[in-house]
Amino acid sequence: MFEKDRAWIEIDRQALIHNVDVIRGFLPQGCELMACVKANGFGHGLIEVSRILHEHGICNYCVACLSEAVELRRAGIDGEILILGYTDPSNFDALYEYHLSQAVTDCAYGRMLNALGKPLHVHIAVDTGMHRMGERCENVDEIASLWQLEHLVIDGLYSHLASAEKMDEASREFTRFQIDNFDRLISELRSRGIDGFRAHIQASQGMFNYSDLRYDLARIGVLLYGNEGDPSDKAPKELGLRHVLSLKARIGSIRKLHKGECVGYDCTFRADQDMICATIGIGYADGLPKSLSNKWHVLLGGRLCPIIGMLCMDSLMVDASSVPDVKAGDVSTLIGTDGELEIRACDLAAVDGVNTNAVLTKLSVRLGRVVV
Ligand SMILES: *Cc1c(COP(=O)(O)O)cnc(C)c1O
Repeated sequence: MFEKDRAWIEIDRQALIHNVDVIRGFLPQGCELMACVKANGFGHGLIEVSRILHEHGICNYCVACLSEAVELRRAGIDGEILILGYTDPSNFDALYEYHLSQAVTDCAYGRMLNALGKPLHVHIAVDTGMHRMGERCENVDEIASLWQLEHLVIDGLYSHLASAEKMDEASREFTRFQIDNFDRLISELRSRGIDGFRAHIQASQGMFNYSDLRYDLARIGVLLYGNEGDPSDKAPKELGLRHVLSLKARIGSIRKLHKGECVGYDCTFRADQDMICATIGIGYADGLPKSLSNKWHVLLGGRLCPIIGMLCMDSLMVDASSVPDVKAGDVSTLIGTDGELEIRACDLAAVDGVNTNAVLTKLSVRLGRVVV
């Protein structure tokens, strides 16, 4: 409702579809794309993004938690939905009811899932060195015993790489160590006659930097949305991906500012000459980092306009002196392109000293998601 009123997010459908096609083409034969849509589709909008993916034939999704998974099902997304995080046993019934797949965070948890007494689809998480979650990969007997549990339908076996984005000697060695651990477990299971599960270990950077690996699925998040993880990330450009998200907000008010006058809370900006001050309807309550105050800029009329003064909860002020005929109602771009200029999410995030996802996943629900 009231789309494009004050401030909003635009999701570029064609860009997302393009990225899916590129990633599918990049993955080895037989390896399927599992779309990672956790944290509200990395801030893009869980349902908006997933509907486009679904229409484009994506059958595998992963999310962080039960509520995200159920939201997807209720929106009509069929196919596999894997919950990567912990689901409390009090809610195991919902896993069955909504035909969800649950990560088995360790073997004891697997036995609890089995104790529900209803067939539950699962992927076994194994810890190959990151030590965040999963049964330790050397516990082969215990992992193998999960196949004896009568109510578990084991569709997958997976792990997660801790250092796949770094290509220095030590990181490559560590990644190789994790991959070897994973492969050793798989072959030990196969030697015991256990098979028929889909194996996966790569996320975005693992897919890009270790493209020779041949597993059954790759769980792709940040690259699906075309985003650099940080400004040094070359993968999106090298793959030819497109940014899916733009962030826009309208000017609410324009005023002249005389030399010597100050702007905003705490008077942190003082005009060193006469200027045009535009107040834009987006602030830190919409998820923008407050650290952008006096440090960053927006795009307006194809020009770059510095943010002046402190970000407010619901608005921010910019120096719009360079923009001809600027007026209330004009649309500014906070992430995305305007004419020749672009603000990438990764560059904005770097001002706050965080990675791209840390900013995008905080973009608030007050920002409507508009598919264009
Ligand atoms: C978030 C997540 C992903 C997706 O990671 P990207 O680096 O964004 O592709 C994949 N697997 C797991 C287990 C995750 O938690």
